[in-house]
Amino acid sequence: MMIQLTKEQEIIRQEIRKFAEEKIAPLAGEIDKTGKYSSELLELFAEHDLFKLKLPEKYGGLEEEPTTYYLIIEEIARVCGSSAMFVAIQGSCMTSIRAGGDEQLKERVFGKLGKENLLMGWALTEPNAGSDVASMETRAVLDGDHYVINGSKCFISGGTGGQPADIYTAFVKTGNAKGKKNISGFVVEKDTPGFRIGKIESKLGMHGSQAVELIFKDARVPKENLMGKEGDGWRILMESIKETRLGIGAMALGLAQGALDQAINHAKQRVQFGRPISEFQGIQFMLADMKMQVEASRAMVYQTASMLERGVKNILPYASMAKCFASDAAMKVTTDAVQILGGSGYMHDYPVERMMRDAKATQIMEGTNQIQRLIIAKSIF
Ligand SMILES: Cc1cc2nc3c(=O)[nH]c(=O)nc-3n(C[C@H](O)[C@H](O)[C@H](O)COP(=O)(O)OP(=O)(O)OC[C@H]3O[C@@H](n4cnc5c(N)ncnc54)[C@H](O)[C@@H]3O)c2cc1C
Repeated sequence: MMIQLTKEQEIIRQEIRKFAEEKIAPLAGEIDKTGKYSSELLELFAEHDLFKLKLPEKYGGLEEEPTTYYLIIEEIARVCGSSAMFVAIQGSCMTSIRAGGDEQLKERVFGKLGKENLLMGWALTEPNAGSDVASMETRAVLDGDHYVINGSKCFISGGTGGQPADIYTAFVKTGNAKGKKNISGFVVEKDTPGFRIGKIESKLGMHGSQAVELIFKDARVPKENLMGKEGDGWRILMESIKETRLGIGAMALGLAQGALDQAINHAKQRVQFGRPISEFQGIQFMLADMKMQVEASRAMVYQTASMLERGVKNILPYASMAKCFASDAAMKVTTDAVQILGGSGYMHDYPVERMMRDAKATQIMEGTNQIQRLIIAKSIF
């Protein structure tokens, strides 16, 4: 490991790895098959404060520094991508509220999150606005003490078993300003009148993390739930994604490490032509390439985490580089792990095909890797 972790971080890594291997890994296949989290597992997550990693200490959270936060995401993703996603979404929403909410909103929402184990969701994408976020159509109009929101969001992670998350951070249009200046962020609670979940997507991977449509039909959100001022949404988004994109990078890194570990174990045990397949140079070279991809991803993710911690400015292109590199690497490494396991790799009984399906999502979520390359290129020129 090239990045020097503190003693405390090393201990956290060991503890979270033990928890992930003993408690999450045995259930990962079942979570993938059913697309659900049992209440027991959610309770276990809660007991380990995994829903409160980014919650400020003042409200009973752990308020983890970036490096610690990402290593926890990495270790969970090493055994179960969906579980890492569940935890990361919580962090993304808290990051947005931290970046945009005034003290009263923080007091109210973070206060609630400190007392109860509530699930969160982060809503940006719309049917006609994916990569082109600024073209979103969902709109909020002030009406007395409430904003009335109309429109829909799609592919929104959060909640489980067909149930919505308890609290969403949602970005919608307000006012008449042009382009990005009319985007505003809101906290939307699940029992808001006029708000409900629609279609629950059936998808390739990340099965435990449901992706749903959110429908706003004259949804009445208290005006105190606006994060900051009208038009602050783009700033909040930019503040948030430098951290949340790195979360996807850490998730991709964990998936790649998990698949590499599986491939190494299998290569040592599987005997063909009278020898373990790990003795064949063709397999060794594949594993060497996989190891390089994993270590390079780790260096980029933790280097950027350390930049975040040091408050380095203009970090967004670096978060894009880490997310893009680590997710492309995860796709390659997990696909090669399936190859090293041969026919077994293609079967549901082994975890590598799940890891490959989960890895694909990391190239798309939080901005596709084409969009990351656009950001990186823009920073060059
Ligand atoms: C598993 C999963 C979970 C998700 N969870 C959430 C969530 O919790 N909240 C949320 O808001 N969203 C979520 N999303 C949505 C995700 O962020 C979007 O799918 C993503 O941003 C891409 O948008 P799109 O699907 O509309 O694709 P499009 O924007 O339609 O893109 C289609 C293709 O065109 C490419 N493309 C677009 N514009 C350009 C360009 N200028 N130059 C080059 N290529 C371009 C894209 O890279 C892509 O390959 C999730 C998606 C997935 C798969």
